[in-house]
Amino acid sequence: MCIKKNPILYIVIPCYNEEEVLPVTSPMFLKKIEDLVSLGKIDKESRILFVNDGSKDKTWEIISELAKKDEHFIGISQSRNRGHQNAVLAGMMEAKEKCDITITIDCDGQDDINAMDEMVDAYLDGCEVVYGVRKKRTTDTFFKRFTAEGFYKFMNFMGAENVFNLADYRLVSKRVLEAFSEYKEVNLFLRGMFPLVGFKSTSVYYDRAERMAGESHYPLKKMLGLAFDGITSLSIKPIRMITGLGLFFAILSFVGIIWAFIETFTGHAVMGWASTVCLICFMGGVQLLSFGVIGEYIGKIYMETKKRPRYIISERTYEKEKEESAGEKERI
Ligand code: UDP
Ligand code: MG
Repeated sequence: MCIKKNPILYIVIPCYNEEEVLPVTSPMFLKKIEDLVSLGKIDKESRILFVNDGSKDKTWEIISELAKKDEHFIGISQSRNRGHQNAVLAGMMEAKEKCDITITIDCDGQDDINAMDEMVDAYLDGCEVVYGVRKKRTTDTFFKRFTAEGFYKFMNFMGAENVFNLADYRLVSKRVLEAFSEYKEVNLFLRGMFPLVGFKSTSVYYDRAERMAGESHYPLKKMLGLAFDGITSLSIKPIRMITGLGLFFAILSFVGIIWAFIETFTGHAVMGWASTVCLICFMGGVQLLSFGVIGEYIGKIYMETKKRPRYIISERTYEKEKEESAGEKERI
């Protein structure tokens, strides 16, 4: 049995330019840890691990201050902004050695912190992955809701199956994290990747609130980027669709040829210039689109073959333990 009673919990929180929100939400995270400890659900060695994702404002200074004031707060800093997914990965990999379970959550207070109780209960009941799922998005602006819902529908259509409204709010056990660390891809889409790892899982439902301060860092452009990464990392359906499209036009042109023969033999005039031009334009468009999609996959292969590090930690609020001996062990 890999479920540990009284597990050490690390709450992993990515932060990018969050100087406005951190002073508001950090006491809430601390209180949650203290409450869970006093309820006897988690160990007192549990920590809140902030991952500064190359913020340009005072985020890292705030994290460092918090770490000085209370031992429950610790932080790591990425050498530059790498995006939300890489920040979460960096935090989880950092925490993996020290804890029994991690819960990843955004730092803006949008995801209901109280759902953590249920998540830990689900873990104690034997689930090693617990997904946080948003009930509804009434607090998001219409535009955000519309684009986010469109995002999930599009993803499902393209073969990247996703639990609707699944967030990056998730409990993962150490054993799952160890299995996950074998997934070496650079092109990350965490919420689609954890279901691939397997293990017993369940979902916890919660209401999504408004951001407590500051602004969203997920504008349409980043969301489209994430959708594209999600689709291309989980599915080859777009390439299949191109094959289907090719087949469709092959059949169509075959019919066209027969039709042209009939037209010629029945003595009708040569078809007009317009239809030829239309056909050329249309085929040109289809071909360019197809090249684009194939190119996207080739681009991904290119990025993956480089095997560049997915995150680089430049600073910590604490000393990294036993680096030498761990390195030694690996060499042996
Ligand atoms: N974030 C990050 N790196 C980025 C963008 C965002 O670490 O490049 C963090 C951000 O600080 C927050 C979380 O990811 O904790 C989610 O971002 P945000 O709240 O802006 O997105 P939304 O909830 O609007 O989708
Ligand atoms: Mg948010």
